[in-house]
Amino acid sequence: MRFKNCITDKNIDEAVKIANSILNAGSSLINDLSNKDDFQYNSGHGTQVALNLILVREPVNVYSYKSINPFTKAIGYFDGEAIWINLRKLPLLTKEDVIGLLLHEYAHYCGYKHGNNFKSEHKCKHSVPYYLSENVKRWI
Ligand SMILES: [Zn+2]
Repeated sequence: MRFKNCITDKNIDEAVKIANSILNAGSSLINDLSNKDDFQYNSGHGTQVALNLILVREPVNVYSYKSINPFTKAIGYFDGEAIWINLRKLPLLTKEDVIGLLLHEYAHYCGYKHGNNFKSEHKCKHSVPYYLSENVKRWI
């Protein structure tokens, strides 16, 4: 188990179950990462990334919050210990979006970074967190 859902929400429950199931040895996600050789941001080769993501570690808790700023773009974040999902954004998110958010933040939990918070095409290809959040449809 990679994630421990601490929110009472059916959609998040389902997304957590799927995210848990695709972060395991032999999954298409892990096989895909193993073959990737163009990660940057000090991530190392995809083989190392894949091995790191499937390491046995304490599951990360998933909580919710309501952003003070109603216009924020943030749908969630990792605070160094837990993953937080913005309840203001939840109704606008698809199941894939929520799974992508979980995978992205899990990559942060495992130590991967992507510089500043501006999403770019380069980051989506070469940073572990954005690569995970942007390609969910290939793995579920
Ligand atoms: Zn991030």
